[in-house]
Amino acid sequence: MTQTAGRFRFDLTATDGKARTGAISTPRGTIRTPAFMPVGTAATVKGMLPESVAATGADILLGNTYHLMLRPTAERIDRLGGLHRFMNWDKPILTDSGGFQVMSLAALRKLTEEGVTFKSHIDGSRHHLSPERSMEIQRLLGSDIVMCFDECPALPATDAEVAKSMRLSMRWAQRSRDAFGDRPGHALFGIQQGGVTQELRAESAEALCAIGFDGYAVGGLAVGEGQEAMFGVLDYAPDMLPQDKPRYLMGVGKPDDIVGAVKRGIDMMDCVLPSRSGRTGQAFTRHGVVNIKNARHQDDPRPLDEACGCPACRGYSRAYLHHVFRAGEMISGMLLTWHNLHYYQELMQGMRDAIAAGRFAAFEADFHAQRAEGDIPPL
Ligand SMILES: [Zn+2]
Repeated sequence: MTQTAGRFRFDLTATDGKARTGAISTPRGTIRTPAFMPVGTAATVKGMLPESVAATGADILLGNTYHLMLRPTAERIDRLGGLHRFMNWDKPILTDSGGFQVMSLAALRKLTEEGVTFKSHIDGSRHHLSPERSMEIQRLLGSDIVMCFDECPALPATDAEVAKSMRLSMRWAQRSRDAFGDRPGHALFGIQQGGVTQELRAESAEALCAIGFDGYAVGGLAVGEGQEAMFGVLDYAPDMLPQDKPRYLMGVGKPDDIVGAVKRGIDMMDCVLPSRSGRTGQAFTRHGVVNIKNARHQDDPRPLDEACGCPACRGYSRAYLHHVFRAGEMISGMLLTWHNLHYYQELMQGMRDAIAAGRFAAFEADFHAQRAEGDIPPL
């Protein structure tokens, strides 16, 4: 092994406007950027075998600390060889810190300077999360990219509330950095907060850069502020973060959110949308969203998208996909999830190629023009 093998590294290979393409190297493999990370909440991307997720083109998955600490617990996963072994996924894994989901899912939360105590939404049992405990859990899971423990205020919030929460998160970022220690091959990302206020975003970025991280997330967006407000923040927030480190937009999003974020300098994203929508009968295509439950598909022998190479489009008609959805068959969610993840990964590959070729603006124009055409007319 050379001295640099096994290190975490980010190399930008091309930029086009603010859009960037490159690669994150980890001991578990390379992550091509801009990257979309499917979400494997409970140590599975629902309805997909890990090798199928990899076949869609995903280089990395996201796991949720909050869910895994409650069930089956980080200690149990550690005893069973870590999260990669446990879920049979040997490529990189990013885990969130648990902070956001404690705030959105857990009951009876008590927030102090030290951390958060809460009751599990599963069985009401009492738990505690702090920067130190979150770092310990993510280490037990064996996560390749670890996120700082942070706090995100519930919306609507005043500027004063957003500022207070952001400053607490910055103190927790320092504690996360101290607790993470030196772990070659593993990365720790800081999370910028500050809501939709430019001054607070700048203060947060300055605090994070002073601590120093392997990558930086733009947090506190995609929480109901709307696309216009989110793009408003993304017009300046990524520029406040170091050029030579990956930038991760958490919890985003719909295909047009993703294209707009990449245009503004984002390198990584995650979202439950392609898998969740697959289970509720919604397919993302070049021409927009197709609701497979709609009766217009019941006699249609054509695939969801004739240009798509996924198993759902190669082997099955809209009529079949409509039927299995209506019949409540498991294969419905499996096929639509596979198609959606394939569509998302093709979108990312298209953007990576366009940025490398210096034609991102043309790619974006085509993307919007195809959506404007709408779904193919019914037979
Ligand atoms: Zn397809």
